[in-house]
Amino acid sequence: MWDLIIKNGRVITMESPQAQDKAILIKDGIIVDIVDNGIVKELDAHNVIDATGLVVMPGLVDCHTHLCEYATEGVHRVKGKSQKMAAISNFLDCLKSGVITVGDHHLGHPVLSTPIQVLKEAARDTELNIKFATGTCCVGTEPLAYTSSIRPGSSLTFDDLDTGHFAKLAVESEFPGENIFITATVANLPSHIVPNGGKRVFDKENVLNIVGIFHSLGKDIGAHIEGAENIQLFIDADGDVVHHGHGAEVRQFEEMARKNIHLVATPHGGTSSAPNSPQEIYSALNAGVITAIATDSYLPVHPEAVGMEELKVVGPKDFLRICKPTFEYLKQQGLSETECLKMITTNAAKIMGLEAEIGSIKKLKKADIILCKGLPVFDFTDTDSIVMVIKDGIVEINKT
Ligand SMILES: [Zn+2]
Repeated sequence: MWDLIIKNGRVITMESPQAQDKAILIKDGIIVDIVDNGIVKELDAHNVIDATGLVVMPGLVDCHTHLCEYATEGVHRVKGKSQKMAAISNFLDCLKSGVITVGDHHLGHPVLSTPIQVLKEAARDTELNIKFATGTCCVGTEPLAYTSSIRPGSSLTFDDLDTGHFAKLAVESEFPGENIFITATVANLPSHIVPNGGKRVFDKENVLNIVGIFHSLGKDIGAHIEGAENIQLFIDADGDVVHHGHGAEVRQFEEMARKNIHLVATPHGGTSSAPNSPQEIYSALNAGVITAIATDSYLPVHPEAVGMEELKVVGPKDFLRICKPTFEYLKQQGLSETECLKMITTNAAKIMGLEAEIGSIKKLKKADIILCKGLPVFDFTDTDSIVMVIKDGIVEINKT
């Protein structure tokens, strides 16, 4: 007896060869088999979903968000203990938007002081796969302001960022997110408050040391970086994931591909520089860099972002919208729709170290699946067209 069968849908597995007209058999939250629709009538199941006319594909993966900290203050204006509640509200917005896996960040916040353990516990109670990257953040104010996951609710100085501090961050971090800011962030602040946005925070020796600490503790490291020279520091130090990477050069993408350094692109903003253009993302993919697109939620849209004039602040519900100019350009360059969609499923799962469990529809992977009225990004960008969200084989959201 199967728990759930999804039949007659247009299945986009993200694996090759594609198995478009197959049925998915689910038991105990796992995709146990993928079979011809014809044999489904011979099978018993507690629940059979007829997905005729719908696209069936893996749940979306947003591998760079700030939903438990900066977005709780920014979106909900919470200051105190309600931070946890605001985080859960943000997480529900993800699920409703088809995002079943989230790579969130805990970087400390000058005002919000909920420790990461409490937020991890809250995340465990949600129906999302959530991993937390712990990090230290540098905001480009004058003077520069530092925060850290180790001491949320307080401001630090550069001298606090010693070997012990980075070792503790490495131990706590669950995936290579923005563990360090090689360049100061503009955060979500108006430019006159952050005149040092984009300024380099660490020198070559610092970056080598920090990457060495993470690697010696068995952890991959990611960094917030903009500007070719600064990106080069991280490449030379054998870092693992470049976040934003605005201003990277084609030869750097080639070097990243050779060194197996991945890219999390944010085509709508996130640094003081112009964000990743569709052409830049094409160069990264063309060079062979494992590339994901992420929302960095919630994030104001950079004035130089390509094709996003009507967007102001981007959250989970805008995930597909921010991919659209890039995906359309990539398709013109000859990439398949599936190759594009891998950036918000398979590739993002790989960057989070979850490629064995999620990111495609494959035997023995988790049954984290969305049903859509067409192909996301190409046929629609509104999240109402994601009509069903299934996590671990259980229908969590049903808008049909
Ligand atoms: Zn970020």
